[in-house]
Amino acid sequence: MKTFYATLFLLLAFLFSFSSQNRKVLIIGIDGTRSDAFQQANTPHIDGLLPNSLYSYDSWHTGISWSGPSWTTILTGVQWNKHLVTSNAFATSDFATYPPFPVLAKQIYPNLNCSIVAEWDPLVDYISPAGWNHAVKVPDMSNWPTADSAVVELQKPDIDLLFAYFDKVDMTGHYTTFSPTNPLYISAIQSVDSAVGEVLDALYARPTYSSENWLILVVTDHGGTGYMHGGNSIEERHIWWMASGSAVAHQQINEADPGTYNCHANNVFDTTCVNKTLMKQSPTHPDVAVTALHHLIYESGINPETKPEWHLDGKSWLLNQTGVKEIAGNENVSVYPNPVAAELTVGNLQLAIANKTPVELFSSDGRKVFSAVPVSEKITINTASFAKGIYLLKAGTANSKVVVE
Ligand SMILES: [Zn+2]
Repeated sequence: MKTFYATLFLLLAFLFSFSSQNRKVLIIGIDGTRSDAFQQANTPHIDGLLPNSLYSYDSWHTGISWSGPSWTTILTGVQWNKHLVTSNAFATSDFATYPPFPVLAKQIYPNLNCSIVAEWDPLVDYISPAGWNHAVKVPDMSNWPTADSAVVELQKPDIDLLFAYFDKVDMTGHYTTFSPTNPLYISAIQSVDSAVGEVLDALYARPTYSSENWLILVVTDHGGTGYMHGGNSIEERHIWWMASGSAVAHQQINEADPGTYNCHANNVFDTTCVNKTLMKQSPTHPDVAVTALHHLIYESGINPETKPEWHLDGKSWLLNQTGVKEIAGNENVSVYPNPVAAELTVGNLQLAIANKTPVELFSSDGRKVFSAVPVSEKITINTASFAKGIYLLKAGTANSKVVVE
């Protein structure tokens, strides 16, 4: 019996000496990477994530397309009218009210171990001196030192969050133009992809990887046109977004409405310019922090989207939350956004097509308010005229509660 307790003690000591939790986050930030150039570049390492990813090549920058305000939004989960960073000078900010998300995560789990590796010092010095247990500053355009430093962090058994930031693409854009027809710009994207490959290899090589639940977010802050960014052109605002892992649905989101996404003319935040329905269907910058934060604190049951004192603008894209939602049953059907205002999308309908089973929506009093046999993998339901309330969506054996708001 003594041996039993001794063994149990050793086992528990072993478990507690290592990672505090199995939900972990890796954020890879690639500065200044236009969506069209990103799609054109040969990026096998990042592309390798796609089958397990929720992603969009049609994400839109909704704030000020400078790096300072953009990364601040990515890390705080709020737009610039709240965090108040409007340029790379960081002359104004309100990090006391809207701290970077690792600070919020530690309000729930103080022992989280968070690291940042960044080629741009302001990310550490201005945006987020707090929240990180370990910060590594690497010189500009340091692809491989950045990857090597990220590898060191990922070799730590108890790492919970790593943000690795690469600026080579942005710098190359400033030196030689942001353009899919500029071979140097494309080559910079490919070079960063190789470095990302090294980081991902280190992640997969973790001895505990198979028992961990990693959410990998790969994001950019803005595009560019000519030698610059900071304006409102499509080239500067058309970006992409990727979340990978078992915590998200695996599908591509196609939404595009650049015309209504310009929210910062003359540095005045115009809330009326945002098409909120479309915004709910396409991930945006504040969603990075909220989704990462949600993953880190998931076991607490707290949804950062709705925690009142945090006042976050972003949305969580984790499964079973209000973003893309995988619905119950043995079919990999997804339904989003949920809650929905005007247009509900039901995706991954391959099985329903094959079996010719309808997608049906029932009101809470049992009335069928929509029915259609899908002919493509995705259908949309116009819910604008529906009464507010809870509905039941059925697709084959799958079913889900849908909230119309
Ligand atoms: Zn930037």
